Amino acid sequence: MKHEIAVIPGDGVGPEITDEAVKVLKAVGDVSGRTFQFKQFLAGGIAIDEFGVPMPEATVEGCKESESILFGSVGGPKWDNAPWENINDAVTPSRGIQLLRQIFELFANLRPAKPYPCLFEHSPLKPEKLDGTDVMVVREQCGGLYFGEPRGIVREDGQKRGYNTLSYTESEVERVARFSFELARKRRKHVTSVDKHNVMESSILWRSTVEKVSEAYPDVTLEHLYADNAALQLVLNPQRFDVMVTGNLFGDILSDLTACYHGSLGMMPSASVGAGTFGLFEPIHGSAPDIAGQKIANPISAILSAKMMLEYSFGLAGEALLIEQAVDAVLADGYRTADIYSSGTEKISTDMMGDLIAEKIRRA
Ligand code: NAD
Ligand code: MN
Repeated sequence: MKHEIAVIPGDGVGPEITDEAVKVLKAVGDVSGRTFQFKQFLAGGIAIDEFGVPMPEATVEGCKESESILFGSVGGPKWDNAPWENINDAVTPSRGIQLLRQIFELFANLRPAKPYPCLFEHSPLKPEKLDGTDVMVVREQCGGLYFGEPRGIVREDGQKRGYNTLSYTESEVERVARFSFELARKRRKHVTSVDKHNVMESSILWRSTVEKVSEAYPDVTLEHLYADNAALQLVLNPQRFDVMVTGNLFGDILSDLTACYHGSLGMMPSASVGAGTFGLFEPIHGSAPDIAGQKIANPISAILSAKMMLEYSFGLAGEALLIEQAVDAVLADGYRTADIYSSGTEKISTDMMGDLIAEKIRRA
């Protein structure tokens, strides 16, 4: 069996950690008899330098010819501040990744947050809060505040006004809600829907639509939380959550918060999926310009994103488990990148972490 994967390393630590994910997928190929074929494409700042746009046509075409996308991260101080007042004129790295999510209608961004017992001491939360915590944040990713129209910057009354629109249609909410209930069925059968139903019309529609969808899932319990309280509960009572479904903006913010369970964004993968098996798999973090080029970034976010690719795009649950177990084993052996290092463990580089995880897979 052959699988074609488009690889978009991007900027900053993106290429460093994506290399390690590719290395690990090759190890999985060696032991499972699957062949993973990789084709590299440009996006983000590096594509702006090369082609003048953050998402070149050749990259989009390359993705269309592939079964799945492995994405690093994009952005950096060199490109982020290019001025724009209309999103269609924006030549920024973030615009590139947003276009990709939209072109392929990858409406559900899955962000798992399950703390590792061996990293408990690295989290600012107490071990008794982390023990048993296993949250899957499902962030709606093709609509909401980041895409709603009208939007813009206008001049009025002698000053500028910037505005965006938080808008959701019933069908946009329905598809991500249904996805979340289906996912909950395979987990602990509980869905928490997060909104601001008390102050926003879009949230009134969000909540009533999620309730309508829930009628088809009597075996799954549903609760609603306001986004501000959800942020607090993710810290005070993380064990209460199973699947959390929410809109683009709240999901972006709340899922970054769950990185505190590990003490680092470098442990956090994600899967962006839509109606079929095609998907985009990427760390939840950005290009980390503060540590780029030093070979100290944690590649586990990218490696676990590759694991999610095996699960969601290729249906290879057994092979995905191989990656998960290899990551567990290397952490249990006491190896750490700088972001998760504490005294008594061994500090290693980005590529060493990739080597060790690949080695565990080959020996499994
Ligand atoms: P960031 O996620 O890049 O970094 C936040 C912090 O986490 C930094 O201290 C960084 O060093 C650390 N970190 C991130 N990944 C790490 C890893 N693998 N190992 C160890 N430490 C890690 O967020 P930021 O600093 O706000 O943004 C930096 C750039 O990334 C900006 O250009 C931003 O636009 C972009 N960005 C891109 C994406 C994306 O590509 N999907 C997402 C968010 C931000
Ligand atoms: Mn983000």
